[in-house]
Amino acid sequence: MIYKLPKLSYSYDALEPFIDTRTMETHYSKHHQAYVDKLNDALKNYPELQEKTLEELLASLDKIPAEIRTAVRNNGGGHFSHSLFWNVIGPNKGGEPVRQIQEGPKGKLADDIKTAFGSFQNFKDEFIKQAANLFGSGWVWFYADPSTGPGQVKIMSTSGHDNPIMTGGKPLMVLDVWEHAYYLKYQNRRSEYVEAWWNVVNWDF
Ligand code: MN
Repeated sequence: MIYKLPKLSYSYDALEPFIDTRTMETHYSKHHQAYVDKLNDALKNYPELQEKTLEELLASLDKIPAEIRTAVRNNGGGHFSHSLFWNVIGPNKGGEPVRQIQEGPKGKLADDIKTAFGSFQNFKDEFIKQAANLFGSGWVWFYADPSTGPGQVKIMSTSGHDNPIMTGGKPLMVLDVWEHAYYLKYQNRRSEYVEAWWNVVNWDF
């Protein structure tokens, strides 16, 4: 076992009523666990790849042997995305990032959002729009794009378990819009789930 399911820092029922207990339990202990297991299985005969970090593997998929490339892309991507997703949400969160002098560089996020999008509301509207427009299963990302300069923050959506690392970006926040993330409580009402999700966003992280 190279990769392990990361510990959740809150209980399955901690995000009620926005994300329900049964979804949390299934999503974390079944879906995420399966990606971890399949990633370990794909890498089991490749000790040289086991030396690399998950980010290194995802940043250069072209260097992965063809026979396991798709498995690493899907299951490695799934493990990375879910590990981040559990951290960017939490109980008693929500609101918006606010710059406080004593926060130092951490508080710069609020400024970068305003510079890039004009206002937090514009940022949120764009994020929600991309979540609504994403066809099928995927993720919506808020990420830094170092290729266009410091403090450049952007939004993108990806299909499957692809992520901004694969194109040189640095993920900051992510929303899971696979149906398994919301179907038990919201069924086909993805927009209700997306709206509710803002109540659990952990800006401190
Ligand atoms: Mn998921």
